Amino acid sequence: MVFIIKKQLALLKNIQLVHSNDKLCQEFGFDSQGLSQCLPYFNGEKLWQQADYLSMVYSGHQFGIYVPRLGDGRAILLGEIKNNDQERWQLQLKGSGQTKYSRQGDGRAVLRSSIREYLASEALFHLGIPTTRALAVMSSDEAVYRERPESGALLIRATPSLIRFGSFEYFFYTDQHDCLKQLADHVIQDYYPECLKEENPYAKLLLNIVRRTATLIALWQVYGFNHGVMNTDNMSILGETFDYGPYAFLDDYIPGFICNHSDHAGRYAFNQQADVGLWNLNALAHALSPLIAHDDIVFALKHYELVFSQTYFTKLAARFGIAEINRESQELMLAGLTVLEELKADYHHFFRALSHAVANDDFDLKKITQSSRECEKSKLWLNAYEKLIKQQNLSMADSGQAMLAVNPKYILRTYLMDTAIEKAEQGDFSEVNNLMNCLSQPYAEQPEYEHYATAVPEWGKKLVLSCSS
Ligand code: AMP
Ligand code: MG
Repeated sequence: MVFIIKKQLALLKNIQLVHSNDKLCQEFGFDSQGLSQCLPYFNGEKLWQQADYLSMVYSGHQFGIYVPRLGDGRAILLGEIKNNDQERWQLQLKGSGQTKYSRQGDGRAVLRSSIREYLASEALFHLGIPTTRALAVMSSDEAVYRERPESGALLIRATPSLIRFGSFEYFFYTDQHDCLKQLADHVIQDYYPECLKEENPYAKLLLNIVRRTATLIALWQVYGFNHGVMNTDNMSILGETFDYGPYAFLDDYIPGFICNHSDHAGRYAFNQQADVGLWNLNALAHALSPLIAHDDIVFALKHYELVFSQTYFTKLAARFGIAEINRESQELMLAGLTVLEELKADYHHFFRALSHAVANDDFDLKKITQSSRECEKSKLWLNAYEKLIKQQNLSMADSGQAMLAVNPKYILRTYLMDTAIEKAEQGDFSEVNNLMNCLSQPYAEQPEYEHYATAVPEWGKKLVLSCSS
């Protein structure tokens, strides 16, 4: 009921493996040589034990408007494999060619967007943010047309589940409530088994998805990540960052930052993400309403704000090195962010420099903000912060070290990625490789990658991200 089968793939010309995620391969118990042997299966040339390829139907709210039929228009499920912890993971080939759900699309993915998803999913994972992963990127000699001709590519995405909020919406809005229940039962059985012992497992399922989604979005806010296309079909039921499009990490702290060039109204701006998360969960709850009583839905949704704000302030306090979360320290953190906004300071450099300031007991405003601007408010804030940090029952050196462990030195900056993609499009994957290596240890000092942690050039802050992928 959920899947359609596609027995034949229209493969791209001259597919080549350009990068494999060796660390993730190891989690599945094979090395890069093993990956090479699996490639004919991964890129769809051979079938696993007569398995069929599957594409999934879903619908969803795109920019607030319900679109009744979407689905995997350029992706197929290759199969499931177990990792070393015996967890079942699904492998999906993105850019597979047309499926039943392609509508007017060509079913392809381009190298640019495949590299963007590949790098981002690893960058977020190593920062500690839930995300789908990716096993490998493959390029081809085939031209795929977007705003210009680009190289057709394939990405192998890996995650325990590819089910989206929109998967439930599809069955709800098509009045297939028996299928809706079957899907909910499957999700509970495989991904939320703790719900089975509850009086109403579906109510508990919604509550747990609310919790995971709130946690995810709080982490995006704390680490300055703007997803850019938070349509309900891009929301994972596991609470993972899903379907990377025109995303970006903040450079300067601009709360209203909009990474998606096509999002003229700023629906998915950085400072809207928390609200959109709840809006999307309302859409999911509505789709699950045949299975859950109204009061249970309200109860579950009410948890959103609570979990969001607990996670947000806990993680933000760790970044600020603040041990006790209370009204005073919360206000101080928020005031710190206002100062960053006014100074147009780099969000990530600020926290890294603040960690060093605490570790070395050297509170120099210019060094911390790396901004040529200065204002009375920023000096007052820094004085208040220094006072609070020094009142804590912790040595400055210890606090500073703890901060360095949660404040990344290396971030996947848009301009770094653009440079890597430009080279990759010329056949040179060295920068993709370097970024993959560097971002797998974002909190560690890596002298060989020092150049990735320098000030972002002005041109690098103005890059426009296309929605096409
Ligand atoms: P996205 O914007 O990538 O989240 O995709 C939204 C919908 O459009 C999904 O149903 C995709 O499968 C479909 N889609 C995106 N790009 C293509 C493409 N090149 N060919 C076919 N379908 C696509
Ligand atoms: Mg999508």
